Amino acid sequence: MDHTDEYIKEISEKIDSKKEYYVEISNKIWEFAEPRFQEYRSSELLQHVLKQAGFSIKADLAGEKTAFIAEYGSGKPVIAFLGEFDALPGLSQKADVAERIPVHTDSCGHGCGHQLIGTGTLASAIALKDFMKEYNLQGTIRYYGCPAEENAGGKAFLVRDGYFNDCDLALCWHPEQGRRACYGSTKANFRVFFTFHGTPAHASMCPELGRSALDAVELMDVGVNYMREHMIDEARIHYAITDTGGDAPNVVQSRAQVLYAIRAPKITQVKELYNRVCNIARGAALMTETTVEIRQVAAYSNLISSKILADHMNAYLEKLGPITYTEEEYAYAQKFQQSLSDQDKNQLPTIARDYFGPKAAEVIKKPIFEPMAYQNLYSDLKYSTDVGDVSWLVPTVHLNIPTFAAGTALHSWQAVAQGKSSIAHKGMLYAARIMALTAIDFLQKPELVNKAREELTETLNGETYPDPLPGDLKPEVW
Ligand SMILES: [Zn+2]
Repeated sequence: MDHTDEYIKEISEKIDSKKEYYVEISNKIWEFAEPRFQEYRSSELLQHVLKQAGFSIKADLAGEKTAFIAEYGSGKPVIAFLGEFDALPGLSQKADVAERIPVHTDSCGHGCGHQLIGTGTLASAIALKDFMKEYNLQGTIRYYGCPAEENAGGKAFLVRDGYFNDCDLALCWHPEQGRRACYGSTKANFRVFFTFHGTPAHASMCPELGRSALDAVELMDVGVNYMREHMIDEARIHYAITDTGGDAPNVVQSRAQVLYAIRAPKITQVKELYNRVCNIARGAALMTETTVEIRQVAAYSNLISSKILADHMNAYLEKLGPITYTEEEYAYAQKFQQSLSDQDKNQLPTIARDYFGPKAAEVIKKPIFEPMAYQNLYSDLKYSTDVGDVSWLVPTVHLNIPTFAAGTALHSWQAVAQGKSSIAHKGMLYAARIMALTAIDFLQKPELVNKAREELTETLNGETYPDPLPGDLKPEVW
């Protein structure tokens, strides 16, 4: 007998009955807006809620003070829910207003919806726990409090230190333009600091005594820009000069630093590019008679998607159907669509086409994308996520749900401004339902867990986790 409808009702009730509570938690995390590895209050709040719900807590993991695991149940399967809660620097923004008004200049904002991810995932884990209790199901649920998804790849440290070794499946979600179980890969990514050391000197009286670290940074950047022509199309390299050596042109700069992000579809390709960029840095040091210190601070592996998990998730997306919105919510979304730049607005048909194919023209008429996005259309995604690192070890699924006006870019002030809206909260609780329901399928059928594991082994085809972080690297705020 198919109990799907009964389960949908059960899980929806469990989540909806605590709706206000979850909204409040999400809004609090939005207000805390703590950046990578400093998410103390957000992490504490989530731990507190999970503890109250009967989970046991282990905190301060892999050198990450704000990381934690909340666990319930025992034995197999072990189901991992991946929660995030870090905000982005420089994105402070007033809620609900469709113009750029920071609350505090220079502070952070939730431009990637991680307050919704952290809370929705928590709601999902708690609902599943209650369901397991009622139905007397065997297994372990773990909520992973994963810090620093942005810019530091917090999960990679947890993976490296073995915290995912005994997991059977991993579920997570992210705000996006459409409803779908994401099936594809993300870009692997290294973050590396290049610090040049030279010799200071009076730039006019004795320039011959100086050796400029800033010259070295400039030459390195020029060298890498020449290299761009000779790398694969899908690779991306970006840099930020994090230390120019001071603001005095009459002093030869003795220290300068540049931070590189090196991305490519596969971690092996990133490693190759990284070696070439290091050679260019050494070349720049040689040319300027300076020295260079190379320090990798983060790594993100490419995502390996589980089709079995994605199929189950997509089936629930179809069953639950579109999220329904009120006229006020459409008007709210429209207001934000109008605030987008012309360039962003012009992107809308492309976004709609990518997600909905021939349905795009119809979909675009509404300011929030509602239908179900294309299923199982394997796509190479342009961003990076540290969920990728988990996915090499554990069959993983990454759900996308809209939480804002269509066309809103992630990491924009518009995304921050809409983070406390009812549209955001509807998306968050919808995602919570879908993840819990997908997990139920796997809790009830151990053969599915085995199948997902076999599929991962097949996909990897002999490759093993690339362990992209230097062995001795500690998580740090930089
Ligand atoms: Zn994000």
